[in-house]
Amino acid sequence: MTVTRGQCRFCGAPLSHTFANLGMSPIANNYLTEDQLGRMEHFYPLHALVCDRCFLVQLEEFESPDAIFSDYAYFSSYSTSWLDHCRRYVESATERFALGGDSHVVEIASNDGYLLQYFAERGVPVLGIEPAANVAEVAVERGIPTEVEFFGKETATNLAADRRQSLVEEERHESAAASTERAGPAMVKRWGKSPPRTWQQGRHAKPHPEQDQIGER
Ligand SMILES: [Zn+2]
Repeated sequence: MTVTRGQCRFCGAPLSHTFANLGMSPIANNYLTEDQLGRMEHFYPLHALVCDRCFLVQLEEFESPDAIFSDYAYFSSYSTSWLDHCRRYVESATERFALGGDSHVVEIASNDGYLLQYFAERGVPVLGIEPAANVAEVAVERGIPTEVEFFGKETATNLAADRRQSLVEEERHESAAASTERAGPAMVKRWGKSPPRTWQQGRHAKPHPEQDQIGER
């Protein structure tokens, strides 16, 4: 995505309205190492603008997403009150949308699996998308399948292609099962021939019951 200074990153309209201007600030959670303490620290404008055409609230981009999120120090699960809110939110969403084993909850910026864990507990298949590899690793360790990616057009296209491939595989499986001569116990992988790599990592580390259920259905 190309972000042009002074223009909305979503619709391209000129940005002129201040949402909140909190002055200059270093990047959040970007702690300095001991050998950086004597150096100058970068400060950036923490000035949120709101687009008057699409209402997206946004900061101007001064630092690349890769630089901010490659090794991130914020873990959502550290806050017990936040976890409590997430648990109640999941209870309410599960009931309201009648979510179950045939649903699929995808969270963008899923951090350490703080939210998806409650859907998984209820037997709802989940997928997290989280760019910070060190944070995503914690989610995978607790059994939450997580793609280490920034969410954008490319990631969305790839995930949709995986999904389509898996549906084709299921279709083939059903056709094969209908023909008793060549049937045999076919294995159907919902995500197609090659599941997303973090699912495979998850399997090597600590297989999650939901993953097995989905992978071998
Ligand atoms: Zn806009």
